[in-house]
Amino acid sequence: MNLYRNILLAIDFSDHGHYVAQKARQFADQFSAQLHIIHVLDNIPMPDTPYGTVIPLEEDSAYELLEIKKSKFIQIADQLSITPTRRWMVWGAPQEEITRLAAQEHIDLIIVGSHELHGLGLLMGSTAKDVLYHANCDVLAIHIKD
Ligand code: AMP
Repeated sequence: MNLYRNILLAIDFSDHGHYVAQKARQFADQFSAQLHIIHVLDNIPMPDTPYGTVIPLEEDSAYELLEIKKSKFIQIADQLSITPTRRWMVWGAPQEEITRLAAQEHIDLIIVGSHELHGLGLLMGSTAKDVLYHANCDVLAIHIKD
């Protein structure tokens, strides 16, 4: 039996994203696992929804930013040959949405990048640490040298 069947790659479009993404692809291939991908929109104001969330926003620039992120996301998912049904772009707090989706999709390994923490980062914590703390499955933190 394969050790991992469903692997979730969390991406944030930072410079090291490509490196982390390639490693995730290799892991998935190694274990003949399905690769899923998630990006959490945490810095774009959510447009008005039927649920009543209204955050003041410069509509044009928010939608432009969303389009840019969407096309980057599709490009990375295409490069990794991830099928459209395993691509997730959601609004929210990264650690919450990553672990929520992992539970929903029966993910057995989450892959995130992990920076060396210093200065303000030490005080604020990191997404990798938060995911590790909240996840119900294995978490692989790909070490990134700053
Ligand atoms: P950070 O702690 O913010 O430096 O991020 C570390 C890692 O967490 C990144 O390399 C990603 O794997 C993941 N991550 C951070 N922010 C997001 C996000 N908005 N959506 C998905 N994954 C994220």
